[in-house]
Amino acid sequence: MPASSSIDRYVVIGNPIAHSLSPAIHARFAEQTREAIAYERMLVPRGEFAAHARRFFSAGGAGANVTLPFKVDAFEFADSASERARAAGAANFLAARDGHIEADNTDGAGLVRDLEDNLGIAIAGARVLLVGAGGAARGVVTPILARLPAALVIANRTLERARELAQRFGDRGAVEAVALDAISGERFDLVLNATSASVQGEAAALPEAVFAPGAFVYDMAYGPAADAFLARARERQLRAADGLGMLVEQAAESFFLWRGKRPETAPVIRELRSSRA
Ligand code: NDP
Repeated sequence: MPASSSIDRYVVIGNPIAHSLSPAIHARFAEQTREAIAYERMLVPRGEFAAHARRFFSAGGAGANVTLPFKVDAFEFADSASERARAAGAANFLAARDGHIEADNTDGAGLVRDLEDNLGIAIAGARVLLVGAGGAARGVVTPILARLPAALVIANRTLERARELAQRFGDRGAVEAVALDAISGERFDLVLNATSASVQGEAAALPEAVFAPGAFVYDMAYGPAADAFLARARERQLRAADGLGMLVEQAAESFFLWRGKRPETAPVIRELRSSRA
């Protein structure tokens, strides 16, 4: 029997999860929209995603965000998936609807919204370099291609993984793969770092020749993890941003899908930035 509760319960599932800002973000959205929800962190041991997710939803859980390393498990766990989650083969969003679990992937929408609406960066017509071919990169390729960039090149340390992505998404637009240490000669207007190199403290080193004059540089990592990568961009006099806006925007998209109300993101991004400054 599902546990009865007047407040809908949501969780963010990951490992590790203690660092997650999602509970704070959703608490702000709930206040703003006057929606009564509970949103907590859930630490799940590796290899045990399905058992824990099943228990949460059987006990009446309304929805979950899912982060590293479980996005593929979340996709496989769901009974059905949106087009964008199917395209990515990974989900960061689950919702219980009429007794079955639906998956979605809001990461790409979050990135595009942050770039276009918050930062004023046009993806349409831009030459875009996506560095990395892991879970985050998978989630953003389709939404980027949908904005019709002039080119999308995926560069990864392990070339094979970039090739897999380029093949997977090749029918959706012009996308090429290249080894990270073999990029040269091409200039890009928008450079997106989707590697975890910054989190590990070593910013992916990119040759000067990659940046078009006035290029915009974006690191999907946020906070101190993005500092080194962004510092290098600023040394080159390029505009740059970290992924905090993407995090808040993917959360807003999730909130909208669950609650049918779109929260305002700008005050939440501002507040998080000032509390972390
Ligand atoms: P994955 O572990 O799935 O992928 C890691 C990627 O980083 C791979 O492409 C890997 O290359 C590459 N990489 C790791 N170390 C290095 C290095 N030293 N030099 C060059 N490349 C390296 O991670 P995710 O894709 O899930 O996450 C990537 C980043 O995106 C993280 O910083 C994460 O926090 C951020 N993110 C931010 C979100 C947001 O909302 N702002 C949402 C999702 C992710 P290889 O294939 O060769 O191993």
